[in-house]
Amino acid sequence: MRRAEATHPMVVVGGGIAGLATALGLARIGADALILEQSPAFSEIGAGLQVGPNAARALRWLGALDAIEPYLFAPPAIRIFDGPTGRELMVIRLGARFAQRFGEPYQVVHRADLLMGLLSATGSEPSIRVETSAQVAEIGVEHGSLAVATDDGRKLSTSGVIGADGIRSTVRRSLPRSQEPRYRGYAIYRALIPVAGMPEELLDDCVCLWLCPGGHVVHYPVRSGRAMNIVAVTASAWNSERWSEPALRDELEPLFARSCDALRALTQHPLIWTKWAGADLEPSPVWSRGRLTLIGDAAHATLPFLAQGAAMSLEDAVVLARTLRRNGISDGFELYVRLRYERTRRLTLASRKAGWQYHLDGLPRKARNGILSATSPDRFLNRLSWIYSYDPLAD
Ligand SMILES: Cc1cc2nc3c(=O)[nH]c(=O)nc-3n(C[C@H](O)[C@H](O)[C@H](O)COP(=O)(O)OP(=O)(O)OC[C@H]3O[C@@H](n4cnc5c(N)ncnc54)[C@H](O)[C@@H]3O)c2cc1C
Repeated sequence: MRRAEATHPMVVVGGGIAGLATALGLARIGADALILEQSPAFSEIGAGLQVGPNAARALRWLGALDAIEPYLFAPPAIRIFDGPTGRELMVIRLGARFAQRFGEPYQVVHRADLLMGLLSATGSEPSIRVETSAQVAEIGVEHGSLAVATDDGRKLSTSGVIGADGIRSTVRRSLPRSQEPRYRGYAIYRALIPVAGMPEELLDDCVCLWLCPGGHVVHYPVRSGRAMNIVAVTASAWNSERWSEPALRDELEPLFARSCDALRALTQHPLIWTKWAGADLEPSPVWSRGRLTLIGDAAHATLPFLAQGAAMSLEDAVVLARTLRRNGISDGFELYVRLRYERTRRLTLASRKAGWQYHLDGLPRKARNGILSATSPDRFLNRLSWIYSYDPLAD
């Protein structure tokens, strides 16, 4: 028979970036949190993430920026290239002018460093308790209270549940008409190498984006500039049951076959690639019911082509904490969804569109390249300004 435990404060399911940020947000408003993370330890898995001004503002309010700052790297520019010819199509400078315009700089970080920074910030908050090896199996209602059942047979009753359990969320299944993630036809390969191991042709401290027919490549330094994060995306089928797994270099051959020599240099290096299924959720505003809500990828997983998955989770955490402070749990959850739905929906759709634009071939590719070469970087940035100028404290 299952044991019933005393009522816990707010239960946050999942200790990824969204879960840790949520607990920090709750601490900021004086609320207690219990994080239940299924993994036995916080994983070092993952590669580079981009921390735009919107994400930095959220981290600052959550009180985690100081812990993460030593690991952030500020690239001087974003450079966009045509993959087959190697022609540079655009350079967007990111220095002081960018920081002045958007209020914070544009930075990049390794996912593990961001996660560990958030974890160390939670460690200084006595109101946050973290349990690892705690897999949540289902959420139910018992005697009028929410009950969180773990797969080791425990049942915790709680005043509220925040599902921060990622794209394949268990908590999401408690909601009516809940979405399931859809594979969008992209395999996403990630590799990390010491900067010294990077092919000389590609040694660059900028964020470099190579647009190829049917795929793209992005690389930039992480770990305070000591390592290079490389992401290669191909349009392909996904034939595995698992959502991420080790990958062979040969799988990328079709992408590199039509690439310029500089980009092909990557194939000469013994990189260890891991691939992820490029999936997202169809936007739907059904994230909350009563005292249960979703946050981060569980609510609105997107394709990573605008590099905003982590940023959206951090913004969510700030808005959620502030609405809870103002409106209490049920009304706060409802208002939080209203404030976050339109922005995350726009981001999901814009990320899909970016994938399509990045991978054009033939005449459409030429037309895209012509437009990029003829557009001023300032105008290009104007189009992204809705992403970077967002301030979660204004909502
Ligand atoms: C291993 C990994 C590597 C990644 N690497 C990159 C990267 O290199 N670049 C990039 O841009 N994005 C990466 N991402 C995605 C990025 O971190 C997310 O898009 C973003 O941070 C939002 O994260 P999240 O916290 O909502 O979800 P996630 O990062 O998926 O975190 C969800 C957490 O919930 C836990 N969990 C799931 N189900 C349960 C359950 N039933 N009970 C308890 N715990 C549960 C998971 O173990 C995980 O820790 C990665 C994600 C993961 C999980």
